[in-house]
Amino acid sequence: MQLTHKIALCPTPEQVDYFKRACGTARRVWNWALNEWNRQCAAGGRPNAMSLKKQFNAIKYTDPQWLDENGRPWLKDIHRDAHAQPFRNLAKAWERFFADLKEGKEAHKPRLKKKGRCRDSFYVANDKFTLNGKTIRLPKIGEVAMTEELRFAGKILGATVSRTADRWFVAIQVEVPDAQFYRRRTSHEVNGVDLGIKAAATISNGEVIEAPKPLKAALRRLKIRSRHLSRKLEAAKKAAGFERRARLPRGTRLPVSNNRRKSTATLARLHARIANIRADFTHKLTTRLCRENQALVIEDLNVKGMLENEKLARAISDVGFGMLRSQLEYKARRYGTHLITADRWYPSSRLCSICGWKNEALTLTDRKWVCAQCGAHHDRDLNAALNLKRLATETALPVASPTSNGGTASGTIPAVVGKVTPVRYDGQQDTSGQEEKRAHLCALS
Ligand SMILES: [Zn+2]
Repeated sequence: MQLTHKIALCPTPEQVDYFKRACGTARRVWNWALNEWNRQCAAGGRPNAMSLKKQFNAIKYTDPQWLDENGRPWLKDIHRDAHAQPFRNLAKAWERFFADLKEGKEAHKPRLKKKGRCRDSFYVANDKFTLNGKTIRLPKIGEVAMTEELRFAGKILGATVSRTADRWFVAIQVEVPDAQFYRRRTSHEVNGVDLGIKAAATISNGEVIEAPKPLKAALRRLKIRSRHLSRKLEAAKKAAGFERRARLPRGTRLPVSNNRRKSTATLARLHARIANIRADFTHKLTTRLCRENQALVIEDLNVKGMLENEKLARAISDVGFGMLRSQLEYKARRYGTHLITADRWYPSSRLCSICGWKNEALTLTDRKWVCAQCGAHHDRDLNAALNLKRLATETALPVASPTSNGGTASGTIPAVVGKVTPVRYDGQQDTSGQEEKRAHLCALS
């Protein structure tokens, strides 16, 4: 099993300088490889990572574009892993592209990396660095202080040095023994979790988890700092003779003032801080959920579709749904928690969790509603969580029709999950039947 530990670095200014150059090298080599790949493809060739690397190695110390102004090959100053890895990454990116294409998923071709726009990182192979407590010895620059020791014991596979805002990190990949990978659960409940905008998560045991408050404060600050930066950008445009708010022609480079550079840096730091608050929150939440439950049911939120709705977009990306989802997935593996994803058409909010009646008239703004069939009062989110929980138990509600499964009290749900019984239909025509039928079945497959 493979785990990655990302540790903050405390490099000296000279080391930072090397990091920046190594990242720049990795980026330029990637772009060279991608351009070459595309060119050879267009010419009818079938390039691969190995052949491209060979081709690159043949020219990297002689070709004018890889020499500095004094005619020295500057690649010699950068450790070779930084300019060898992009080839492997590129091959992986193409593999992923074709795999996604084959599966009918949305596929993205590898793209050129742009300075300042892409993630800055470079790779170091496992035999090129050594760890000693809170220091890491990297090729070319020697020992760099780390903020903590590597937490995992096992075979070290490699490391990636990367930058976020003005901080540097090393992510160390470790192959750990199973005993270290798998974690013990502290309790074995079965719960549905409704992820929301009002409350970040509502658990079917009645607990409501709010998103962290510092996030809200930071977001306010974000608006202010973005305004500061855009003001400087507008000033630069004006100085260059452009209209206010004018779209610049492609490739225009405005001169960057010192104040604009500082402003960009503070904004980047704030973005990083917001991301940290979010990550801290989702990590704690997802660990807790997986640690305490033997089965969890979540909704398959169509995050991308929801992000297209502008009003929702802000609230959703603030909570970090995508991150929450992927963390749940890998932690569920570590804790042996059965993670069930309800189909996105499963009407978890609309069904009455007590009798199964379906509230067709429910709107997004209804926080509370009353079941017209059994008279139960529902909190929107809790009711949804309870309906999700049913998918993990034997009392899953089939499509809400007044006759089927009526009267099953939620209190009697047996907490058994070794077998998860799919929802069955009795084949009858039901009046409310629509896409949920299909959805119900695939939700559990
Ligand atoms: Zn009801």
